[in-house]
Amino acid sequence: MTLHVAGLALVGLLGLVVGSFLNVVVWRVPRGESVVAPPSACPRCEARIAWYDNVPVVSWLVLRGRCRRCGAPISARYLVVELVTGLLFVATALVIGWNLALPAFLYLAAISVALAAIDIDVHRLPDAIVLPSYPVAAVLLALASWDVGVGYDGAALLRAAAGGAALFVLYLALVLAHPRGMGLGDLKLAGVLGMYLGWVGWGALAVGAFAAFLLGGVFGIVLMLVGRAGRKTKVPFGPWMLVGAAVGVAVGQPVADWYVALAL
Ligand SMILES: [Zn+2]
Repeated sequence: MTLHVAGLALVGLLGLVVGSFLNVVVWRVPRGESVVAPPSACPRCEARIAWYDNVPVVSWLVLRGRCRRCGAPISARYLVVELVTGLLFVATALVIGWNLALPAFLYLAAISVALAAIDIDVHRLPDAIVLPSYPVAAVLLALASWDVGVGYDGAALLRAAAGGAALFVLYLALVLAHPRGMGLGDLKLAGVLGMYLGWVGWGALAVGAFAAFLLGGVFGIVLMLVGRAGRKTKVPFGPWMLVGAAVGVAVGQPVADWYVALAL
């Protein structure tokens, strides 16, 4: 029990550190800049940010959201991205448990935060993040399929491949039918999310895919009702694909089982 709590605290801290790095990713990747060099600097006075001013969450609070040298405001979003990543990492550990699947799903959590933030910012899902995620997810899910003490779950890995192909084909059909509604970025992301959802199970894949359209659709309607969006407003769909996938991973399998039991 104490070990479990200590593990969660550790994963949460890891999430804060990863979230701090994701802030760099969210700012630099859409601008085509390197995420490793040069080191972070204040965008106004260009002062290098010292390590003690770069501690996740703590530094932002100590500096009260201002550059130490010139006082330029530092967006509260830095803090929000770090906290969201930390909480998402803890939630992921709670859902997945302490096994070899955890690295795969922590990776998914990390790219989800980065991709959602970038899609909201600039309405793009950069290839620089999505395309490498195919081989990374394949390797991590291959590792995840190894259940210590039980054996290798080759069926799960095959399901991941089939799930990736299935969701990619579904989105391809949507892009072809309605080219202005769905972006190529969404199409490329669909394959990655399909791999993860397929690995969890067919029910997770169905629920995860459906939840994206349900939640995205409801959000679009709410935006129109409150007058924040017209019929032509482009609402990024990537975040809803990612939230839908999270729903599919977390509760998709039991929800699908319940639905099937109800229908029969
Ligand atoms: Zn400054």
